Amino acid sequence: MTIFLTGGAGYIGSHVLLCCLEAGHKVVVLDDFSNSSPEAITRVEELTGERVTIWRGDIRDGTLLRQIFDRHHIDAVLHFAGLKAVGESVADPLAYYDVNLGGSVTLVRAMAAAGVFRLVFSSTAAVYGDQVLMPLTETSALAPSSPYGRSKRMVEQVLADLCAADSRWSVAVLRYFNPAGAHSSGRIGEDPRGVPANLIPYAMQVAVGRYPELVIFGDDYPTPDGTGIRDYIHVMDLVQGHLVAMKYLADRTGYHVWNLGTGRGHSVLEVIRGIERVINRPLPWRIAPRRPGDTAQCWADPARAAADLGWRTSRGLDEMLADHWRWQAQNPEGYLS
Ligand code: NAD
Ligand code: UDP
Repeated sequence: MTIFLTGGAGYIGSHVLLCCLEAGHKVVVLDDFSNSSPEAITRVEELTGERVTIWRGDIRDGTLLRQIFDRHHIDAVLHFAGLKAVGESVADPLAYYDVNLGGSVTLVRAMAAAGVFRLVFSSTAAVYGDQVLMPLTETSALAPSSPYGRSKRMVEQVLADLCAADSRWSVAVLRYFNPAGAHSSGRIGEDPRGVPANLIPYAMQVAVGRYPELVIFGDDYPTPDGTGIRDYIHVMDLVQGHLVAMKYLADRTGYHVWNLGTGRGHSVLEVIRGIERVINRPLPWRIAPRRPGDTAQCWADPARAAADLGWRTSRGLDEMLADHWRWQAQNPEGYLS
């Protein structure tokens, strides 16, 4: 198959790229490198011995997309390109609606014009917002609490409407929980621009000495140790979820939604203890007030993906942290190291 991978230089996209090449697919990448480095793709090429066709450009550029679909015989699209920082989305909502929603509409228009109707879309557990009942199933209430989450939810709605209007569409919406970890080679991994907003990347940068201490946002949540609980999923398990979803779509049409999570939550303190085991020394941390907008706990019910796709995670927190650490230790400044 020839796969069109938008955002293929990014954290999750680069891991998907690697596995698609290993599975024998041809891959065409579109990325504007606004939050990634071309070095990620070079390293995937080194790891696999395969060449990747790269288009540098913006997902909102319909003319460019038409050119890409004209040039390549695309069988399926995996759509990762987008903005993903919750805090930034509150400060600059238009950028999120423009890139995430506008970019997705531009993409599906170009797909339809080219007669390509198979799409896997990166959604997020942020579409559920602040829910009391755990675990979250695909039928849990949807109440995204940020422009980021709302932009993803809007794309989901666009895709559902499209599938209802035209039976040729075959769409998988994958709601990711908290991706972490890296490929076991340590050659590719998460390389956030600026100060990392997420727990594991920040803690790993403390461990390599880029920041003096981790700040725990709140120890007064109604959880067993008072810190927030999340469902951390190894990026390689997440990648497998995409491959099986793509396979599922091969002989089915319609709109399908799956949670991709482990079904298990870990608190911030559990993550810190896990990192300390991996680095074999204490990680400096202090408690600070809650981060505005944070929820106490969030974890997935992954039963639907298990039933429909035969997919379940196989890697636990310790492996995730060991792999993330290998990447971070070998690349303390990310791809610039
Ligand atoms: P990332 O920022 O590493 O990757 C996104 C890629 O898209 C980057 O390479 C970036 O340069 C590119 N991009 C951004 N805007 C673009 C544009 N206008 N045109 C072309 N390319 C553009 O993020 P990621 O963690 O790999 O996330 C991939 C997808 O998964 C995103 O859509 C994100 O919302 C979603 N997601 C991520 C997480 C997470 O925690 N990492 C959780 C849930 C969902
Ligand atoms: N967190 C923290 N310090 C940080 C970053 C995050 O204590 O520097 C906490 C956060 O409050 C939450 C958990 O770690 O309970 C996961 O946060 P992250 O931003 O990684 O994921 P999200 O909140 O988007 O699910």
